[in-house]
Amino acid sequence: MLAPAITNALTIDVEDYFQVSAFAPYIRRDEWDARECRVERNVERILQLLAQRQVQATFFTLGWIAERYPHVVRQIVAGGHELASHGYGHERASDLSREAFRDDVTRAKALLEDLSGQPVLGYRAPSFSIGAGNLWALDVLAEAGYRYSSSIYPIRHDHYGMPDSPRFAYRLENGLLEVPVTTLRLLNRNLPSSGGGYFRLLPYAVSRWMLRKVNREDREAAVFYFHPWEIDAEQPRIAGIDAKTRFRHYVNIPRVEGRLRQLLDDFRWGRMDQIFLARHAPPVPAAA
Ligand SMILES: [Zn+2]
Repeated sequence: MLAPAITNALTIDVEDYFQVSAFAPYIRRDEWDARECRVERNVERILQLLAQRQVQATFFTLGWIAERYPHVVRQIVAGGHELASHGYGHERASDLSREAFRDDVTRAKALLEDLSGQPVLGYRAPSFSIGAGNLWALDVLAEAGYRYSSSIYPIRHDHYGMPDSPRFAYRLENGLLEVPVTTLRLLNRNLPSSGGGYFRLLPYAVSRWMLRKVNREDREAAVFYFHPWEIDAEQPRIAGIDAKTRFRHYVNIPRVEGRLRQLLDDFRWGRMDQIFLARHAPPVPAAA
């Protein structure tokens, strides 16, 4: 059966396996440079997958990665994809002062724009770390020149989430557009239905059912996300981590690439900026 003719947003958070927030207690930041880097080859595989299907996506790229692997940035842009920002150092916004957050998002934006020669309009906070306790971060993003954010996850989760925030794109008073990753409304709760660990954990048919429901019943574009390390079954295993973190990080990784191929075939996909910034354009000021 054909999916409804809604174009959904495909997004990739470009970071390496040792930078995920759940590993932060186990891997010191100053050890990052010594780890085997896998992100280049993984992004390359993703770009090939998208090119085969002529799909363009949004890559929320970490400044730390862009600085060390500028050709990754250039490959993303050369493929016709949107380059967006995942901040510089993958620190949770909720762990930073206003000044430190401003420095991080400004540094990442300038770096990505210098490398790509294109304006960087979008930002996604590491681990969806903007919520009720730090909504000031959205003002900082607007001041830094970002046009949209995809940082508030309207679910209940042990590490992040703001369950009563809107499920679909909304304009803030400061002009910034917030575009949350997609949830499914079921039994009075928002369920995560668009990527990350849940896409690996649930059978593909369930993920497809949830996204179809959002397209058909909510009549909204979904925002799906994944990470380059999620297609990498050969990534080095991090030793000594707790069982929950181990399960969440490694579950079903060998299945992800096949599922992504199906997902690309079953739905229409596009870039965040083209789907949301055009649709939610601010009113054009009258000519002077
Ligand atoms: Zn991240």
